[in-house]
Amino acid sequence: MARIVMKFGGTSVADLDRIKNVAARVKREVDAGNEVAVVVSAMSGVTNQLVKYCTDLSPLHDAREYDAVVATGEQVTSGLTAIALQNLGVDARSWSGWQIPLKTDGAHGKARIESIDGATLIARMQSGQVPVVAGFQGIGPDNRVTTLGRGGSDTSAVALAAALQADRCDIYTDVDGVYTTDPRIVPKARKLAKIAYEEMLELASVGAKVLQTRSVELAMKQRVRVQVLSSFEGNGLGSDLPGTMVVDEDEIVEQAIVSGIAYSRDEAKITVRRVPDRPGIAAAIFGPLSDGGVNVDMIVQNVSADGTTDMTFTVGRADLPRAKAVLNEQIGSIGFAEILADSDVAKISVVGTGMRSHAGVASTMFKSLADRGINIQVISTSEIKVSVLIAADYTELAVRALHTAYGLDSE
Ligand code: ADP
Ligand code: ASP
Ligand code: MG
Repeated sequence: MARIVMKFGGTSVADLDRIKNVAARVKREVDAGNEVAVVVSAMSGVTNQLVKYCTDLSPLHDAREYDAVVATGEQVTSGLTAIALQNLGVDARSWSGWQIPLKTDGAHGKARIESIDGATLIARMQSGQVPVVAGFQGIGPDNRVTTLGRGGSDTSAVALAAALQADRCDIYTDVDGVYTTDPRIVPKARKLAKIAYEEMLELASVGAKVLQTRSVELAMKQRVRVQVLSSFEGNGLGSDLPGTMVVDEDEIVEQAIVSGIAYSRDEAKITVRRVPDRPGIAAAIFGPLSDGGVNVDMIVQNVSADGTTDMTFTVGRADLPRAKAVLNEQIGSIGFAEILADSDVAKISVVGTGMRSHAGVASTMFKSLADRGINIQVISTSEIKVSVLIAADYTELAVRALHTAYGLDSE
C-alpha cells in the first residue's frame, strides 16, 4: 500500500468524459489498496478565459480580485471530480484551498505556499475517503483567496505530497513524460526516462510548461518523488506506460551535455533609452520595478559613448503594462529619453548539467542560429544554461535547429 497524490492538468479534466476517465483512474489506485489524494486544474482554456475577463475590464486590475476570479476554475473541477468518483462508489469530497487550509503569502497572482495543514486530509484518507483538492489556490494572510501563478496546480500537488508524506506525486498530463524539448513543436523530440531535479528546474524556469518551476523547486527541497505521465495513453484509463521520473543527478548514468531545449513566448523586451550612465542607475530602474511586483529576467546594458546608455531587459509579458507604468512614474528621477517595448520576442534556452565540464555549448548555439539568419537580441547564461532572445517568428525554426545541432533528434 502506498500514499499517492495524483494531479490532473487542464486537458485531463477538459470535459465530463475526461473527468469520468480521471475518476476511473483514481478508482484503480484506490482499489489497489492505496491512499489517494487528487489535485485538479481548471478545465483547459477556462483559466485563460478568466484571466482575459480581468485584463479586458482593466489591464491594471486589483490582483486580489483577479485571484477571486481565476481561482474559480479549479473549484468547479474539484466538485465535478468528487461527483464522478462518488458515481463509481468511491467515497470522495472536494476541498478548496481555504478549507484545508493551504496558506500562502500575500503576493496575489503569484503567491507562495507557506504551510499546509495535512492532519485532516490524512485522517480522511486513512478512513478511506479521497480528498479532491482544487489546485492553484490558497488563502493569504489577508484571509483572501490567492493563486500560485500560471501552472500552479503542479505546485499544489507537490506541496500536498510533502504535507501528506506521500510516497509519490504523479503528474498526469497530455504528454507521456518530459521530452528533450516540447514534442508539439519538435516531432523528433525524445522522451526522457529520468531527468535530474536541477535540469528540470532550469528547463521549467525557462519555459518548459510541463512542470511549474516552483513545483520542481519544492520537490527537490522536500525530497518528493515526482513522476510525469499521460492520462490518455494505454487502456483509456490512463497510462500504463512509464512516464518520466524526476531524480537526483547521480541516478542518471549517461549524462548528455545538453539534455533539453525550452522556449518561452511569455516575455517582453523593454529598452530604456538614453539613461544617464552613473552609479545607482540600475538600482533606480530595477528597484521600483521590483517594488511594483515586476520580475526582471535578462538584462543588458551597453557601454556609453556620450554619458548616456541604453538598458534592455525582459519582463513577463503579462507584467508589461505594469512595468511601463512604473517606469513612466520614474521618468523625472531617472531622466531617460523614452521606453521601447516589444512583445514579439521569444527566449530560447539550452540546458544541461554537462555544460559544467564541457566548453563550446554557447558557440554551437550562436552558430546554428547564425546559419539560419536568426538575430540574437539578448544573451544570458548560468552554470547549466544558455538563453537567447530572438524574434518570436523564429521560435520553431530555432528550437528545431538547436535540437538537431546538439544531437538530440530521435532516429
Ligand atoms: P497540464 O494542463 O496537464 O498542466 P501543461 O500544458 O501545463 O499541461 O503542460 C504540458 C505541456 O507542456 C505539453 O502539452 C507540452 O506541449 C509542453 N511541454 C513543453 N516542454 C515540454 C517538454 N520538454 N516535455 C514535455 N512537454 C513539454
Ligand atoms: N488552471 C491554472 C492555469 O491554467 C493552474 C494550472 O493549470 O496548473 O494556470
Ligand atoms: Mg500545467
